[in-house]
Amino acid sequence: MVKIVADRDRCAGSGMCALTAPGHFDQDDEDGLVLLLADEAEDCDDEVADAVRLCPADALRLA
Ligand code: SF4
Repeated sequence: MVKIVADRDRCAGSGMCALTAPGHFDQDDEDGLVLLLADEAEDCDDEVADAVRLCPADALRLA
């Protein structure tokens, strides 16, 4: 398993992560910023890897 880290200070609220990996990411109804629905993912989870790669604000990483 890998840990998912989301930096809400960097998040721009684009919603790309929630579209790409809806099982792990959502957006806050109040401010549109990223919410982690699960803070771990399988090493081979391509959806989560894509979400991290596609985040336009570089706010996501795997640890
Ligand atoms: S893709 Fe990045 S900038 Fe967009 S909501 Fe997710 S964490 Fe925030």
